[in-house]
Amino acid sequence: MTNPHIQVRSLTRTYSLGPEQVAVLRDLDLDLVAGEALAVIGPSGSGKSTLLHILGTLDRPSSGSVTIGGLDPFTLPEPELARFRNREVGFVFQDHHLLPQYTALENVLIPTLPFRRKGEDPEPWARELLGRVGLEKRLAHRPAELSGGERQRVAVARALIHRPRLLLADEPTGNLDEAAATGVADLLFELQRELGAVLVLVTHSLELAARFPRRCRLASGRCVAA
Ligand code: ADP
Ligand code: MG
Repeated sequence: MTNPHIQVRSLTRTYSLGPEQVAVLRDLDLDLVAGEALAVIGPSGSGKSTLLHILGTLDRPSSGSVTIGGLDPFTLPEPELARFRNREVGFVFQDHHLLPQYTALENVLIPTLPFRRKGEDPEPWARELLGRVGLEKRLAHRPAELSGGERQRVAVARALIHRPRLLLADEPTGNLDEAAATGVADLLFELQRELGAVLVLVTHSLELAARFPRRCRLASGRCVAA
């Protein structure tokens, strides 16, 4: 096997519940090679979002280790961690999290505002991405002027603006009707393959999970092949 791009070892995440410590993730191991796609399923409250947040460095392990491209991001000082997250990780949530006052194009460009390198012009790629998700005629629309499926496609384009090596999607089709959900899932797959990113997607839809080459179910805090 090639070196895993993501290596998770004995990951434990506990929360304090009054005087008690509750382990949501417990001794979880996971390896993902570059370009791999994994669907994560499991009942509500089983820790799916917690796992995704830790992989995306939005949350930290209580114990255990996570390395991404050989680096343990949690050893980075906060400003570098923020830059790492901004550059290397793309998120798509169940709710689009677009900013209502900005256009589709502006929303896709928002992640490029911090940490921009000199001479970098992300706009052509933002326009291309919006074209790829079928919104070339919607660049100047604000979120309220878009359908649910279109908003989520803007969110997909935004997640990919930095060509992240890790694409994380937390029930990205959960709020969409079937046709829109299929469209968004198709795009996620297509663009993930093209960019060679690792995709980890949480879903309640067994139909969507069945489209993945690899699936795991969160059970008792671990990721069990499903
Ligand atoms: P899922 O996404 O599978 O529904 P989550 O990862 O959101 O599950 O949550 C797993 C468990 O951890 C739930 O029981 C939830 O209540 C608990 N939990 C999540 N975040 C916190 C928090 N910040 N403080 C305390 N408990 C939390
Ligand atoms: Mg969740």
